[in-house]
Parts: sequence; structure tokens; C-alpha cells
Amino acid sequence: YQATIMRSCHLPAETIDGYRVQVLANIELFEEVVAVNDNGGEGIGLFRSEYSYLNRNGMPSEEELTEIYMDMASLVAPKKLVIRTLDVGADKLMRMQSSAEANPALGLRAIRYCLKHREVFRTQLRAILKASVLGNVSIMFPMISGLQELVEVKKFYREVQEEMHSEGVCFREDMPMGIMIEVPSAVITADFLAREVDFFSIGTNDLIQYSLGIDRTNKDVSYLYQPLHPAIVRSIKWVVDSAHRAGIEVCLCGELAADPFCIPVLMGMQVDSISLGPQAIPGIKRIVRQASMEECNALLKQVMASHSVARNNKLVREMIFRRF
Ligand code: PEP
Ligand code: MG
Repeated sequence: YQATIMRSCHLPAETIDGYRVQVLANIELFEEVVAVNDNGGEGIGLFRSEYSYLNRNGMPSEEELTEIYMDMASLVAPKKLVIRTLDVGADKLMRMQSSAEANPALGLRAIRYCLKHREVFRTQLRAILKASVLGNVSIMFPMISGLQELVEVKKFYREVQEEMHSEGVCFREDMPMGIMIEVPSAVITADFLAREVDFFSIGTNDLIQYSLGIDRTNKDVSYLYQPLHPAIVRSIKWVVDSAHRAGIEVCLCGELAADPFCIPVLMGMQVDSISLGPQAIPGIKRIVRQASMEECNALLKQVMASHSVARNNKLVREMIFRRF
């Protein structure tokens, strides 16, 4: 059975009635690119850039980061590589960071940390911009909570670009720029945010944590982690529709993308791409290839009309067990 799945993993994820979703990978390390290719990944939808900052004294230099991003961009080319800027804080602590915050998940993390520590941010932005001349690189900002914060990020990003311009350093002016949608306020204002960026990527790990109010690292409340909670389903649908109305693409890069039961619902919503751990790619591609858009649409309709997680779980299970 495993051999059958692996044999077909290099085929596109296309439903029997011809609807295609791009299947990308989430990685943290350069070394994982091999596994992405072996498992039929069509690019890197999320490169978590934290690794270079963790378990060390001091910050990585611009040269060090540029080398990593350039190596990665050339290795992944011509496929897409989405580099997410530093997402530290909460469950991803750096050595020099204090963990004394009473609520780290609600504290100085990700883009908030970068906006406070501009030199750290500048160094990473410059390295990503330098790597943009190679391959097919996109930049993505995590934890954006609203329009004002995004405007602030874009302003600083432009300043860094102008600075590089005046130094005569090359970079790709039109490198796609996107944001992660993983805070409820970003969901609710997705229509405004969509006009300001080239793409969205929905981070359901955080979005579920913040929407349902459950700490993703706390085992005592993990039973409340419900990807098919009506609030989550509605949130994702609204974000996808807002993106499409603004003419931009939307990816889903949380663990939900690796959940076989959730895939038909995401297909029904017409997400443009999903990004997941490399090992989960072959199985998910297989599910897409055996499904039809017609039944995904019918399923989505039922799920959108339902007010109960239990009913949603039952609906998606019935669909999968009927088919597979
Ligand atoms: C997410 O929040 O869904 C996500 C993909 O980012 P991370 O898990 O790195 O926070
Ligand atoms: Mg996240």
C-alpha cells in the first residue's frame, strides 16, 4: 500500500474532474529539501527561518543568512521557496530572549519582536532580498494582526530596499510578498489586508489556538483543538473568499493541511495551495487524486451549514470512508 502511494506521489494533486491544488512543503532545515523532492513536494510553502537563531549566542550575520537562503533558493529552483521571517517568542524561544512574559503566546513574538528589534529584522530582510536574485523566492511575514501593523512592516521593508538600492546591491524588486493569517483579527479584516499583499498563507496551528482560546502546547486542553469547529471553518472560508475577491492566491500551511479528513473541505473552498510536512505529502496527494470537486463542494455546503463539530467530523469521515 505504501509503495502504491509513493509511486504516484510525483503526479499532480488533481481531482478526477480536473481541479488542481498545489502541494508544497513546510520545512525548518536545508537538509529537508531532499525529503520534499522525494515525496513529491512541488516547492516550499513555508520555510521556518527560526533555526539559524536558536541555541546560539548572538545573532546570525547577514552573510551567514544570505548564504543559507541563497543555497536553499538555488537548490529548490525553479520551484517556489517561501521564506517566512523570524517567528520567535511563545513556543519558539531564543536564548537571549526572556521567557518571563506572563502570556508568551500573547506577547512579544514573531513580527512584533521584529518591529521592536529593527536591526535583527533589517539583517534578515537584507539576506532574503539578496537571495531573491536566485530561483523563485517569496517573502512572508508571520502573526500580522491588522492593517496598521502591515503598513508599518511594509514601510520598513521599503526603507531597507531603498538602502540596498543606494548601495547598488541587487535584489528582485517584484519578489512576491505575503502574510500569514493566524490571528483572529487578521481573519476578520482579511478583505482589507488582501489589497496590500501578493498572497495569504493561513496558519491554522496558531489560528485555532487564538480563535478557540487554547494553548497549542498545553496537553490538558488539546482535546479542544478542533479543526472543524464552525468558527474555524467559517474563518478559513472568509479568508479564502477575501483573497480571491482581491485577486490573490491563498495557501494553507497549518497542520490542518496534513489532515486527510480536512482536505476535501479545503478543496471545496478552492484553496490554491496547501503546505505540509514532507512525509504527509504522498498520502494527501492520493486523497486529492481520488476525490471529485463535485463531492468536495457538496461536503463543504453541508459543513458550512452545520453548527456542530461532532456533525462536521461525522460528515468528513463518511466522505473519506465512502471513497477510500
Ligand atoms: C501555523 O501557525 O499554523 C504555522 C504554520 O506556523 P507555526 O506552526 O510555525 O507557528
Ligand atoms: Mg504560526
